Amino acid sequence: MAAAALARKLTTKQCSIRLIESAEIGIVGVGEATVPHIRFFNATLGLDEADFIRKTQATFKLGIEFCDWARIGDAYIHPFGEFGRYIKDVGFHHYWVKLHHLGDPTSLFDYSYPCMAAKLGKFMHPVNDPNSIYKTFSYAFQFDTTLYGPYLRSYAEQRGVVRTEGKIVGVRQRAEDGFVEAVILENGERVEGDLFIDCSGFRGLLIEQTLKAGYEDWTHWLPADRAVAVPCETTEMSVAYTRATARQAGWQWRIPLQHRTGNGYVYSSQYISDDEARRTLVENLEGPMQAEPRFLRFVTGRRKKSWCKNVVATGLAAGFIEPLESTSIYLTQIAITNLVEMFPDRDFASTNTDEFNAMMQVEYERVRDFIILHYHATERDDSPFWDYCRTMSIPDSLAYKMELFRERGHVVKYKYGMFYEPSWHAVYIGQRIVPKRYDPLVDNVDVEDVRLGLRKLREAIRLAAEATPNHADFIEKFCSSKEALRR
Ligand SMILES: Cc1cc2nc3c(=O)[nH]c(=O)nc-3n(C[C@H](O)[C@H](O)[C@H](O)COP(=O)(O)OP(=O)(O)OC[C@H]3O[C@@H](n4cnc5c(N)ncnc54)[C@H](O)[C@@H]3O)c2cc1C
Repeated sequence: MAAAALARKLTTKQCSIRLIESAEIGIVGVGEATVPHIRFFNATLGLDEADFIRKTQATFKLGIEFCDWARIGDAYIHPFGEFGRYIKDVGFHHYWVKLHHLGDPTSLFDYSYPCMAAKLGKFMHPVNDPNSIYKTFSYAFQFDTTLYGPYLRSYAEQRGVVRTEGKIVGVRQRAEDGFVEAVILENGERVEGDLFIDCSGFRGLLIEQTLKAGYEDWTHWLPADRAVAVPCETTEMSVAYTRATARQAGWQWRIPLQHRTGNGYVYSSQYISDDEARRTLVENLEGPMQAEPRFLRFVTGRRKKSWCKNVVATGLAAGFIEPLESTSIYLTQIAITNLVEMFPDRDFASTNTDEFNAMMQVEYERVRDFIILHYHATERDDSPFWDYCRTMSIPDSLAYKMELFRERGHVVKYKYGMFYEPSWHAVYIGQRIVPKRYDPLVDNVDVEDVRLGLRKLREAIRLAAEATPNHADFIEKFCSSKEALRR
């Protein structure tokens, strides 16, 4: 991603880019679900969507279904889209809260087109008409990252990036200031550079092993520290969403691609053994396994400085927040975007570096708070893991946000970082945090008019969802891969 984006942004007159990677070391390769921002990354590169979908065996994604999170038996979808519409300048959810307190049984999720379409196995692209229900959502992809990497590599190579297969075995630093001046490959080659982008994964070859940038460990708030992953056959191509099912000591993902379904159990090794986690995963697959389950270890947190001297870390080298909301690839993308925005000259002004680090800190902390919410806002008391999550202390920034929502349904707004109001609404309400009060301006509208308006809206959303093409048919028509067509 970094090589492709920089090759696109910088001219070969300005910079030459070397991409060094080692097939022997390999990639993590399990990140398959994304958020809508990936579309803007692909668009910036000028990628054709149908071509990207064909080449990466992708499916469309309208959101994430959370099963058994607040209570066993619960299910809600965090959609990429809005709930209802503002009425007289007041957020829709306030009207829903009023009716809910008056005993109205409808769910907030009945007022979301992407939730309805996802449940019915439907998908189509959003339209541009501001009055249309088909304008009220966005979408992302689920794709095979082992194919996305090579796809972008070939894009980068076509734009002048020189790719070297080889293992880095040494790093040379300038004596006077510790800046990295070269990396040494296993074959003895010395590769010099002005700026190094550390994409070496969890090991943080330059940023940590060499520059000791430091790591902020968030395991006390997000106790999952392992995952076991396995692909199985895709049994249902109509699914345009990721599923995250809470389990005894973590949660299980299901990510349907065209040619297979990715599955994994993210868990805390303090509360469950590897064998038990593997057994739970395998017992809950929807199709035959296609490989042996693979274990991964991680420490949730972020690099204290992801830009240090002349090294900028992206991806897992910069930090990792477990994949509950599919945010890792987004964090990689935003690091690249911010790097382009703050691209240095050879002086590497410290103000520039500090600003980049401050921007990245905001990004990671926004995601962190949102993920903790899912674990903490639970009523589950059926295992020591859930007891811990329910009763643990949480960051002050999240405690403040939760209190404001609980008291009057207000979502704290921010300019930078991901997850806007509808996402917070989905997870608060989905996790059974219903505000005590609503915006008093709601009382300016006659309650019977509100009931009628909401009934009409529900019906319109249902009809719009029913009229949407099946996800599988849509893919086949728009961009089916040859392999999927054969199958
Ligand atoms: C359990 C789990 C589930 C995930 N699910 C999602 C998800 O659903 N959505 C999402 O957005 N993200 C997800 N992620 C994150 C996602 O996997 C990563 O963002 C993605 O794989 C990118 O990783 P990376 O390139 O930073 O590191 P890696 O994949 O580890 O790649 C590191 C690269 O560095 C090279 N390298 C390392 N050391 C050397 C060396 N000495 N010499 C030469 N080359 C070297 C390797 O060859 C490799 O190419 C998940 C991660 C985990 C652990």
